[in-house]
Amino acid sequence: MSGGGMNEVAPTRIELHTHLEGSVTPDRLVALSERHGRPGLPAECLDASGQGFVFTGFRGFLDLYKRVTSVMRTPRDFHEMALDLAAQLRRDNVAYAEVSVSYGVLLARGIDPGPVQAALAEAAAEAEGTLGVTMRWLPDAVRQFGPDAARRAWESAGRAGRVQGVVGFGLGGDEVNGPAAAFAPLFAEVRAAGLGVSIHAGEVTSMGEAARDSIRQAIDACGALRLGHGLAAGADPALLAELARRGIFVELCPRSNVITGALPRLAAHPLRAFLDAGVPCCLNTDDRTLFGLDLRGEYAAAREVLGLTPDDETAMRTAAAAAAFDTAP
Ligand SMILES: [Zn+2]
Repeated sequence: MSGGGMNEVAPTRIELHTHLEGSVTPDRLVALSERHGRPGLPAECLDASGQGFVFTGFRGFLDLYKRVTSVMRTPRDFHEMALDLAAQLRRDNVAYAEVSVSYGVLLARGIDPGPVQAALAEAAAEAEGTLGVTMRWLPDAVRQFGPDAARRAWESAGRAGRVQGVVGFGLGGDEVNGPAAAFAPLFAEVRAAGLGVSIHAGEVTSMGEAARDSIRQAIDACGALRLGHGLAAGADPALLAELARRGIFVELCPRSNVITGALPRLAAHPLRAFLDAGVPCCLNTDDRTLFGLDLRGEYAAAREVLGLTPDDETAMRTAAAAAAFDTAP
């Protein structure tokens, strides 16, 4: 239930694909930049109002991501960011969220994910008590950093385990330069440890056939139960049918795909094809503040532009609860 003694209705939505680093608020970025001796950093990331992030194109987004993550260093930083995200989720009517945290980036910066995860678990317990928002964690590795770096990330995640709210392990980053098949042995360990596997795949549709192959590697070589984006399957009826038959869940992030340039416009999103093929899926924000998105807006846009019906939304809610790596409300 919601806290604070207010007579509020408990939140209802489920979100399975949202990144902690991509949810940093402008105010938090200012505070973290000052804390870590980079007072000029926010001016390189925020618009004139100071309330929104700016970047141009996908390369610009990657630069922005590098800048903002450069001041995310201590367990205290992550604790504060997690509480900020919980407040955003509460306002956005989200009851349960699985939140990606890039252990790959932490390790690349020489930061031990262990104490960070302990701080996240603490923040999640706090948010659950005060806001009625459940956050679970999906540490992930970065494809282009390679299997050895990914293994170090997984070892930290596995050590933290469900007791610290880690419910799965993921893979993100550059699909072109980090084929998922190279990570197959690692994901066999993730599955053996009883954690979920969610892999960003088929996001970069400009890869053509290779994007569909990327999806196949994620589900066949790595045993992914969920795909992040999975966009490339939208144009492949056989692959859609296979995802439906195997019950592989797709975490769709339609407006993110437009912002990153994966799609030319929202109307080009193959949401209808996924739904008509019976592929279990739901809508997600991906990077809330960096993209300026929320889940209410995601569903509203899909209703308006992609013909999402109330029945579709109900089906998504049910599918998302079933695909969650922990018990979702
Ligand atoms: Zn993502």
